[in-house]
Amino acid sequence: MPVATEHPSLVTLDLSRSSSPPSCSAGLADAPWEHDVKSGYGPGASAADPIPLASPRQGTLPLEYRRASAAELDLRIRAARHTLGSRVVLLGHFYQRDEIVQYADFVGDSFQLAQVALTKPAAEAIVFCGVHFMAETADILTRPDQAVILPNLAAGCSMADMADIDTVQDCWEQLSELWGDTPGLDGRAPVLPVTYMNSAADLKAFCGERMGVVCTSSNADQVLRWALERGERVLFFPDQHLGRNTGKRLGIPHEEMVVWHPDQPLGGNSPEALMRAKLILWHGFCSVHKRFTVDQIRLARHRHPGVRVLVHPECTMDVVDAADEAGSTDYIRKAVAAAAQPTTFAIGTEINLVQRLAKEHSQHTIFCLDSIVCPCSTMYRIHPSYLAWVLESLVDGRIVNRISVPEAIAAPARLALERMLALAPKPAVQ
Ligand code: SF4
Repeated sequence: MPVATEHPSLVTLDLSRSSSPPSCSAGLADAPWEHDVKSGYGPGASAADPIPLASPRQGTLPLEYRRASAAELDLRIRAARHTLGSRVVLLGHFYQRDEIVQYADFVGDSFQLAQVALTKPAAEAIVFCGVHFMAETADILTRPDQAVILPNLAAGCSMADMADIDTVQDCWEQLSELWGDTPGLDGRAPVLPVTYMNSAADLKAFCGERMGVVCTSSNADQVLRWALERGERVLFFPDQHLGRNTGKRLGIPHEEMVVWHPDQPLGGNSPEALMRAKLILWHGFCSVHKRFTVDQIRLARHRHPGVRVLVHPECTMDVVDAADEAGSTDYIRKAVAAAAQPTTFAIGTEINLVQRLAKEHSQHTIFCLDSIVCPCSTMYRIHPSYLAWVLESLVDGRIVNRISVPEAIAAPARLALERMLALAPKPAVQ
């Protein structure tokens, strides 16, 4: 694994092959703690997204960690890990920067990492290098005495923040007024809630209490099929694009998928449109994946005849339709690994994963569809300085940045997750 650099500047394999690729924000090279005192998601793809007032903020990181060089942080992290041994397991999401991934015991997507956490009952602490909803999910699924730690509390998710319990409950009440709660003659509920893994714990609990379920980008087809066997319609939140792309794959016509705008009565729909709908899609999106466009795909095909275009299903439907394949981060990773012949891949997902795939598979030409460096703002907030701080605190017997979901929320959320787990095959991790 590469040794961390003091101020890691992110570079991309851009289509123009320029030696200094443009970035979506001049602030990307700054130390993330400079943004802990400011409101907002920080530099990166979500910089312009409005952040909820109640979003967790990270307190001041002690000066010694802000001042430490990359080499010093590396030594301190390794020493703390050595001291803690199997008492701690460190999980790293695919979208984390290499400076963090190099320390991870397991690297994977949110669902895989939550599952891994379950297989480590001896660990007293799980340090989750990812974002807030992932740490919550790990806390819901693990034993109460295992501490789940998020190194930077400001690492949220702008998409997850686009749906909150109050507005979802308000939507549900409006839908209940239209149809009531009584199942139809075929036994199906008028509407069933399905939440993407990228959502707060109280929204998972909301689904658990209403016969609903959680899905991931790996199992959305299977989960949606299951839900439509039990509900005449599905209310899907927060990502409209994953919902729409999955609905289309299942053969649901466009006119039977409506978007719910939470700030408008009936979500901006007529009662007739809602009555006709099979899928009611919350107006949420991922600011990383919405950067990918059909024009970028055209350019990649023009410059690289024969290129294989792989995108994530959080991209818009026109992008997914124009790509060769769409799938979860794990799907993309496996598709690249499985290519027997040297292949050119243009990939539409977060830059850190694309760059890592390019390094790991030098027999292929791999580049990001978007030539501008623009990582996920919130994944980017985890930096070796925070990691060193949480690990050394554990060595000193202190738990900092613990993510704890109250049992009243965790129990129904667990139910929604367990319904999904009963459907999904066990995931693999690297
Ligand atoms: S990549 Fe998108 S969905 Fe994933 S954590 Fe970042 S903002 Fe959220």
